[in-house]
Amino acid sequence: MGFSTKKRFIAGVVCPKCSALDRLVGFSNEGVDFRECISCGFKDQLRIMSPPRVLQTRVNKIPINTDEEARPVRLFDD
Ligand SMILES: [Zn+2]
Repeated sequence: MGFSTKKRFIAGVVCPKCSALDRLVGFSNEGVDFRECISCGFKDQLRIMSPPRVLQTRVNKIPINTDEEARPVRLFDD
């Protein structure tokens, strides 16, 4: 999730409709992110980007438990 349900200004963003700077607020409504221009009323839904596959790769790179090798060798002395 990007924004919280509380409207917050998005710094440095120009409204695509009225070209006003720093007039866009971002907020989340029922899990969907929106941006809204307080100057002209422009409202747009933000698409949620799917997480990069890098995350999946990192999970797979977790080292396999090498329990077999770590097990101490028992020596039986006759
Ligand atoms: Zn605007």
